[in-house]
Amino acid sequence: MKAITLEPKAAGSARFEDIPEPDLREGSVLVEAVAVGVCGTDVEIVAGKYGWAPPGKSRLVLGHESLGRVVDPGSTGAFKAGDLVAGIVRRPDPVPCSNCAVGEWDMCRNGQYTERGIKSLDGFMSERWRIEPEYAMKIDRSLGLLGVLLEPTTVVAKAWEQVTAVGQRAFWEPHTVLVTGAGPIGLLAALVARQHGLDVHVFDRVVDGPKPDLVRALGATYHSGALKDLGFEPDGIVECTGAGPVIAEAVAVVAPGGIVCLTGVGSGGRTGAMPIADAAAAMVLRNNVIVGSVNANKRHWFRAGQVLARADRGWLARLVTRRERPADFAQALARRPDDIKVVLQFSEA
Ligand SMILES: [Zn+2]
Repeated sequence: MKAITLEPKAAGSARFEDIPEPDLREGSVLVEAVAVGVCGTDVEIVAGKYGWAPPGKSRLVLGHESLGRVVDPGSTGAFKAGDLVAGIVRRPDPVPCSNCAVGEWDMCRNGQYTERGIKSLDGFMSERWRIEPEYAMKIDRSLGLLGVLLEPTTVVAKAWEQVTAVGQRAFWEPHTVLVTGAGPIGLLAALVARQHGLDVHVFDRVVDGPKPDLVRALGATYHSGALKDLGFEPDGIVECTGAGPVIAEAVAVVAPGGIVCLTGVGSGGRTGAMPIADAAAAMVLRNNVIVGSVNANKRHWFRAGQVLARADRGWLARLVTRRERPADFAQALARRPDDIKVVLQFSEA
């Protein structure tokens, strides 16, 4: 079968090639790929900056934002042929740490977790893949191809859970939520906040293209320019840019008692912001919390399925701005200005 593989940490090694059929040891459920979303992590892995091949292998099958159709459900009875499924990305570490031991592999404490398509496990960019039934998530049939948005939605489902969990430390009735960054994660975060009935504001640099309209179509308000000119203090902020200056501004504009949830993974970026003790003093005096959120456990995958099932299909469809053939994976990985979510389509949903 065909797959997109690469040698981790070797830039330029990615290729669309024939590999053996998936090994039964990868799981009893055999799935035919429908689509795989592409994200910044994939771009980094292909650029040789990140990624680990499975033990004993030199190459890794790429892809962690999966959607597929069950071909052979195995013997558990949990699935039937034709079901649409997505594969959970992370697996608990083998020790396991206390968090992995209770199924919170997203909170793994020792870093020895593995991840499909990223860390020591083959991903989903192959014509067929196998998965353990307990790590396959059934997808609402009516979503069709849009089920490929499940994995990015799990990231915001967890982030939202973190925000609401932190909110419980005090009397907290949020009314306004700011999302920084109108990429797929930011737009899905805005969707979740709107589904909770909140007054949602989305900030991004761009002034045209599809993002402003997508935000307005949610019933949210779009902002560009400087965050300090926002005109109000958000009760909660979901930060999705990972950009230093945006993070510094987000922390500065959040309301007293407000929560900033960081989901972006960036680096560098000088801010000219205040010294750390001054920033800490401002946070102390205003009871602010900054919380980081990464990955997702099965509870978040389930929640994400609920979010997508409730969402307007037309709006979700506008997030998938480009579909490419697997053989053209290099084009899928090359960012274009109006891209939101680009997917490799292996077969019809
Ligand atoms: Zn762990």
